Amino acid sequence: MSRDTKIVATLGPASSSSEVLERMIRAGVDVVRLNFSHGTADDHIARAQMVREVAARVQRPVGILADLQGPKIRVGKFAEGKVWLEQGARFILDSRCELGDGERVGLDYKDLTRDVSAGSVLLLDDGRIVLDVERVVGSEIFTTVRHGGELSNNKGINRQGGGLSAPALTAKDMDDIRTAASIGVDFVAVSFPKSAADMYMAKQLIHAAGGQAATIAKIERVEAVAALEEIIASSDGIMVARGDLAVEVGDAAVPALQKRMIQMAREKNKLAITATQMMESMILAPTPTRAEVSDVANAVLDGTDAVMLSAETASGRYPVETVEAMTRICQAAERSAEVTLDSAFLNQVFTRIDQTISLAAIWTAHHLKVKAIAALTESGATALWMSRLNCGVPVYALTPRPEALTRMCLYRAVYPLFMTQRPTTRDELLHDAEELLTSAGIVDKGDFIVLTAGDPMGSSGSTNTLKIVRVGDRQAYQV
Ligand code: PGA
Ligand code: MN
Repeated sequence: MSRDTKIVATLGPASSSSEVLERMIRAGVDVVRLNFSHGTADDHIARAQMVREVAARVQRPVGILADLQGPKIRVGKFAEGKVWLEQGARFILDSRCELGDGERVGLDYKDLTRDVSAGSVLLLDDGRIVLDVERVVGSEIFTTVRHGGELSNNKGINRQGGGLSAPALTAKDMDDIRTAASIGVDFVAVSFPKSAADMYMAKQLIHAAGGQAATIAKIERVEAVAALEEIIASSDGIMVARGDLAVEVGDAAVPALQKRMIQMAREKNKLAITATQMMESMILAPTPTRAEVSDVANAVLDGTDAVMLSAETASGRYPVETVEAMTRICQAAERSAEVTLDSAFLNQVFTRIDQTISLAAIWTAHHLKVKAIAALTESGATALWMSRLNCGVPVYALTPRPEALTRMCLYRAVYPLFMTQRPTTRDELLHDAEELLTSAGIVDKGDFIVLTAGDPMGSSGSTNTLKIVRVGDRQAYQV
């Protein structure tokens, strides 16, 4: 059964063997996330290598997303890996502490002592632990535990209400961008951007490092919500980063923001990933809770391109089962939704030829109820435009470019297929497209498909042809 919504899975100790990764990819992972908050550059390089080997073996395109740590303020490491904080106990955040214990822990952001004062409320580990700041002395922040619990290595710290001064791209992020560029990742996610300037800077750094990755802005700061429009305009996509976002804006504000953010991204031809705690209970349990099932389904109904797994696949006990459950939920949610072409789109005016052809293909496919759309694309742009509208017909994006193939792994309702060679004539093009779709079992003789292509082919932005083709019938209907 097909599935339009894409699945992003974070790699970690639970998913770093090629056997587990292969099962995860077969179960539906479209994009893997390398979390640069953990691990060394060599860990990420090795994981990316393994992903490519497994993807080649399984013969599925798999995209790679590098998620930068950003100025996330995190506690350091503990001698024992974790500690238990009792409610009412004293606990010290100490920027000079090397290895933590039950009394104190280090900080990777030395300036936190300047950003907080008596009365500040600090939320750790996505708000699971709450500390009230009593006083700040030198390198030490003295706190009282309001809500206790287990605290383990490198968990994040937020200040309630936002307002931390750290810049979005740290020196470590700049190094990590170079690592990501050397890996040739498809996407770079920027943590805690406050403005469009942060996103332009990230893009520049990626290009300077020789990378071509698309940029994803993680919306997780009060300031980013206020600057949403300009941040979306300056990025290729956004992530609804619900973990930090909930802490900064208050958890109850997040569901409505999620809907608004996804809709805004789609309207601007940008991507949206919905992230954090989607299947949280599956870190320890083989089945999701009812609430998690509804959450994933609702993100699908909101129009997200992808749903993301974090600890569930990075360190959970059931990485494969989690992906299987997510696949099943996405499929059912997609089938439950009524397909109508967005009426706002019908009144829009398009001036680009390639964009107009893309949307005409969607309109045509919707009316003729064809089996598939075949979009021959160099950069993937036509597939992106098509995927911004839901017409209920899958878009098979045929490309001879490997980098376009893996980038399209994140586009909702787009099924990327690799063309081993670029057709040169119209006849060849039609033949190759039919051949590819037929041998993949997507269409049969007699099925109608809508096909878009550039004529002549071979350069990006050249899409100018829309054909309605009956598979196996050389008399193509052309409009
Ligand atoms: P993180 O980002 O997991 O890197 O913190 C996602 C989020 O904050 O939701
Ligand atoms: Mn975050």
